[in-house]
Formats: sequence, C-alpha cells, structure tokens
Amino acid sequence: MPRDFVNQYLPDISAPKGRVVTRFAPSPNGQLHFGHAFSALCAHDFARTFGGAFQLRMEDIDGTRSRPEHVEAIIADIDWLGLVPDGDVQFQSQNIDRYAAARDRLISAGLLYRCGCTRNDIAAALKYKSVPHGPDGPHYPGTCRAHPFNGDAAFSWRLDMAKACALAGPLTWMDLVAGQQYADPMAFGDVVLWRKDAPASYHLAATVDDAANGITHVVRGKDLFAYTAVHRLLQHLLDLPEPVYWHHPLLLDSNGEKLAKSKASPALSVRRAAGENGAELIDNLRHGTLMLGISLSDA
Ligand code: GLU
Repeated sequence: MPRDFVNQYLPDISAPKGRVVTRFAPSPNGQLHFGHAFSALCAHDFARTFGGAFQLRMEDIDGTRSRPEHVEAIIADIDWLGLVPDGDVQFQSQNIDRYAAARDRLISAGLLYRCGCTRNDIAAALKYKSVPHGPDGPHYPGTCRAHPFNGDAAFSWRLDMAKACALAGPLTWMDLVAGQQYADPMAFGDVVLWRKDAPASYHLAATVDDAANGITHVVRGKDLFAYTAVHRLLQHLLDLPEPVYWHHPLLLDSNGEKLAKSKASPALSVRRAAGENGAELIDNLRHGTLMLGISLSDA
C-alpha cells in the first residue's frame, strides 16, 4: 500500500492542499539499479497516497552521455516495476527553448557572464588563488567574472552567485523530513547554468521543468539535498513556484556507499531480462526487505 510505505518515512504527513504532482527524473546515462527503483517508488507512492499524478522525465540533455538504449531500458524498467506514470514521458532534449528563455531572462537581469575557461584553466588558476570549497569541490576562481570572455571559442554561462544572492535576499525551502531550510547557494560559487558542451545545466533544466510540469513535491534522493539551495534561488530569480521537497534515504552497498550506476550494483534491466518479477521487487522495497548487502541510509 502506497500510504503505508510513505508513512514509514513520513509518519506525520497529512494531505497537502491541492493536487499532488511528483516526478521521477533519471538521466539516461546508464542503467537503472535498485537505488533508482527505490527513488521511483518514493515519488510514485507519495503521489498515489494523495490521489495525485506521477510523471516520468528523462533528463537527457547531455548529448555526449545520454543514450537512446538507456531511454528505452528505463521506460521498460519502470513499466516492469509496475510504477505506471501519468501522461507522456517528458524529454528534456525537447525543451531546450524553455531553458534558453530562462537563460536569456537571467542574462537580461545581468546575472550571468560568459566563461571560456577550460578545466585546465580552472585548475591552473586554483594553484595560485585560494577559494572556498563547497559540496561540489573548489569554487570557480572567478577569472571570467573579472574579465568576461569575449573570444570565438565555445563558452558557458555562469551565474554571478554573489550578485544573485544579494538580489534575492535570504531564502528558505521546505523539506518534509528535515523541515524548513535556509538556502545557502553561495556554498556552490558561480555555478554553470548553460554548458559549453551541452545546453542547459542540470540546475536550470530541472528547476524550469519542475515548474513547467506543475511539480508540487520534488521527491528525490538525499544526495541532491544541498543542490536544492541553487534550485530555490533560480525559482526566485525566475518567478517560479516553490515546490515542497522530500529527500528520501539512499540505498547503500555493503561498503556503506551509495549505489551508483558506475559501480557494479545490479542493473534492473539485467533482472528484468532474467525473468524476475518487478512487482515483487517493488513489494519487497515497500516492506523494507532489501537485497543482501544493501542497506538504507539514515532518514
Ligand atoms: N537526473 C538526476 C539524477 O539522475 C535527478 C534529478 C532530480 O531528481 O532532481 O540523478
């Protein structure tokens, strides 16, 4: 039962006002594993608990890493798990204009600057400049903020974080487990919002789509908790509605590390091809029966 499952993690949750809409938003860069099944289950069961809608969104804007065979496998995996999405599957690769409009609005507001730095340029600059370290590593050293890039080579657009934060003032967001949070996007420095090698960054595309798709509750893993500060800032700057968040626990491998696509955690498609029962797997996850060697992080 969706409600029983959700209540294990959110015992005090009461029916939100209005229709609930959630999404599962995998990047088709690899195969889905049990961690993804758990994440999709959280988003699905949260929506179903309140008679709401559950959407499936492919975060497929990274043309170099995203593969059609992974898109196909993800759709088949979700179907095999019995987590039927409402409406058509969304593809970020079809929404580039939407992200470009958001980018242009931020450019007009004077909040983005062109950055032509390569990884090597950044590494070289960091050798003689000390910068704060955030959850994603050292901040961008600010080379192109001081001297905007003007060349012919490919460039990215970075957010002038200090300027954006000064404009926005203090911001908060709501997590259903952790409660009200003060957003600290400064922790990330000048993030890239439009990439050199691919269009919009994850931050811009996910934020714009959550609003465009009417997502009321963003249900995703705790590994993305800190990024919400950046998303909250973008919502404010772009006048987008503010969803509520549930950052659910993560499935961990026997070393206590997050199950990751890159590691040898069992792919759902392998289980599916072997004739295993996806509905049974979901049932086990609902009842907290995890595979051997897999555990759940703290809530
Ligand atoms: N596409 C992201 C991932 O696969 C998830 C994004 C999100 O849920 O906001 O990790």
